[in-house]
Amino acid sequence: MANKKDLVIIGSGPAGLCAAIYAGRAMLDQVVIEKESFSGGQVITTERIDNYPGLYGISGYEMAMKFREHANQLEIPFMEGEVTEIIDNSSGETSSKLVTLTNGETIETKAVIFATGARHKMLSVKGEKELTGAGVSYCATCDGAFFRGKTVAVVGGGDVALEDALYLSNLCEKVYLIHRRDGLRGAKVLQRRVAEAANIEFLPFYEVQEICGDGMVEKIRIKQNQTGDEKELPVSGIFIAIGMDPQNEAAKGLLELDKTGYICAGEDCRTSVPGIYAAGDIRTKSLRQVVTAVADGAVAIASLEQDLNN
Ligand code: NAP
Repeated sequence: MANKKDLVIIGSGPAGLCAAIYAGRAMLDQVVIEKESFSGGQVITTERIDNYPGLYGISGYEMAMKFREHANQLEIPFMEGEVTEIIDNSSGETSSKLVTLTNGETIETKAVIFATGARHKMLSVKGEKELTGAGVSYCATCDGAFFRGKTVAVVGGGDVALEDALYLSNLCEKVYLIHRRDGLRGAKVLQRRVAEAANIEFLPFYEVQEICGDGMVEKIRIKQNQTGDEKELPVSGIFIAIGMDPQNEAAKGLLELDKTGYICAGEDCRTSVPGIYAAGDIRTKSLRQVVTAVADGAVAIASLEQDLNN
């Protein structure tokens, strides 16, 4: 027999936890399903956060703990597991979804919030993992300010890499833009602005081989993929912008996704299936930050309450 709930929230990053807090205050019978044995999502690996109002300089870990503590104060139930399938059994005015977990357990629920987030793609080179948060970053708007006046590298040739290079060129002394081809994928207007920026040096046909440093990034080793020539660039930071992997497994075949795999949902967080909402980085949106994720968590509950009452 399936366990019965008003709401299943998938994911316990900032969007999922904020949705849970609002659902708790709305007295909804809910459960938050988290993949790991801890909450926080991507934020947990962020060294320092300077752009969340009121919590200047907080570490991502501490922020995640604070969010989770808040949820615990409201006695919100959490369950560890992974959702493998969601079946929409709604009929007429009655919303009913059947959520199945990897362990075979099923939950019958009126509503589901996807707050599964997205993961930055990694280069998978030596030094990347070890120096993440110590000069290796996946978010220029989050971490750029730590590299004011320094020399940094950006890897990638899409819109994000070009935007990151331009953003960093206003803060840093010099920015290397490293791309594995000479053709850039990013918008022409961004390409022109990159070409015009005096302190951005474009390095086409280069691939990063290794990120080096004793506790902090000091240099990177790069290889020209046509000639095989290798060289070292002294940099204080490296921003990896080679795309994201939206965590959309359980949404495939059920919800409308955009061409890059994010769940299509507007600012009200409603998806293509009534009773299912998307909040945070998994949703189609222009700015993926903690502050926009928590806002989505609140908005998703407001939409859900409206829908349940109608
Ligand atoms: P993207 O467009 O997929 O570009 C990823 C870039 O990283 C590509 O240039 C790719 O090289 C390179 N790359 C991928 N794997 C690599 C690897 N292992 N090693 C080295 N380089 C690698 O990703 P994105 O820039 O994150 O953008 C994602 C989506 O958001 C895009 O559709 C983009 O248009 C959109 N976006 C739009 C805006 C805007 O409209 N203002 C802003 C940001 C993002 P190749 O080119 O050789 O494949």
